Amino acid sequence: MNLSANSSSKMRASTNPLDGKEYKIMEKFHVHIYFTKNEIELAQKVRDELIRAIPQLIYVGELILKPVGPHSKPMFEIHIPAAEIDRIAAIIDKKRSGLSVLIHPVQDDELAAHTVFARWLGDRLKLDLNNLNPAKDTQQLKCSSM
Ligand SMILES: [Zn+2]
Repeated sequence: MNLSANSSSKMRASTNPLDGKEYKIMEKFHVHIYFTKNEIELAQKVRDELIRAIPQLIYVGELILKPVGPHSKPMFEIHIPAAEIDRIAAIIDKKRSGLSVLIHPVQDDELAAHTVFARWLGDRLKLDLNNLNPAKDTQQLKCSSM
């Protein structure tokens, strides 16, 4: 399985035939799995289990041992196709071994993606929302380690 980023999985624009306007379609969700310095082995095990249990994974990141971007704890991330979000979220909930998990859509409005559209499994953690972009401009997404 190729776990590297795949350009066809990124957001694409779609033209509405009724009004001719372009809409961005969310095709991908990020899943961030958080752990502490004492849970590195557990996180590695959860990561292995998720790789085994979810063949639809678009991307699997390495463990990141320090806080980055809005994430206030060490974490690793996986990317999943939006079409299967509910089914995959249920699998992740079974496999997360008590770790906190954030699931959010990938979209221009990062602030909304990490707040109103965010879903948590387990304990909800504080995010640093200061650098997340609420406006519709096309800066590089900051929530990802990619
Ligand atoms: Zn993210």
